[in-house]
Amino acid sequence: MNPRLECQIHQQKLPPSEGMKNTVNVVLETITEKIHQDPVTGIQTLVGSNHQAYPDFNFSIESTCHSHIRDLLLDQLMIHRSSSRILASHIASAANNLGFGVNGFVITLLVTVTKRVYVVLSESALQVQRLLCEGIIDGDELKRLKMEAEPCSICLEHLLGSKTGGVPTRLPCSHVFHDRCLTKWFSRKNTCPMCRRVLFE
Ligand SMILES: [Zn+2]
Ligand SMILES: [Zn+2]
Repeated sequence: MNPRLECQIHQQKLPPSEGMKNTVNVVLETITEKIHQDPVTGIQTLVGSNHQAYPDFNFSIESTCHSHIRDLLLDQLMIHRSSSRILASHIASAANNLGFGVNGFVITLLVTVTKRVYVVLSESALQVQRLLCEGIIDGDELKRLKMEAEPCSICLEHLLGSKTGGVPTRLPCSHVFHDRCLTKWFSRKNTCPMCRRVLFE
């Protein structure tokens, strides 16, 4: 399957005093989604994702020919050929609209490429993923439980607004911790950190 591409384009014409300078900036972020497909039901579940940001890539174009722009992109960016073709056509049409060869301009593209990889999980890893997916709660739910001021008892940081711990997640025993704290905990134990209830086999 081809990666999914999202692209926002900002274009700016330069005043004549700046000459015919043309600049294209590409700001790329890739997201790799890890998908587990249940062998029995075929249901696909997102079990994790990695974000990666790259240094900005700046270049000038010599023409609005798609293959010229595509080659420049492929030289510098770790993207799929199909994505480079789409970006090249966005850049070429923006450059034509701005008056390539007549006006100077700056085109900035904010690009997010999302790839999916399929992973095989052990049965226990799958059970942990289900616990975490089903347990995630938001701030309102936390207030309803009167726990908005409580710390996560794994990392001792507040349940809300933790940069390292992640989001509040409620286990079937009703105890709440951060999702990332639980991921680490469950790599060693299969019980709730508070009440020791066995949560998976
Ligand atoms: Zn925590
Ligand atoms: Zn518990």
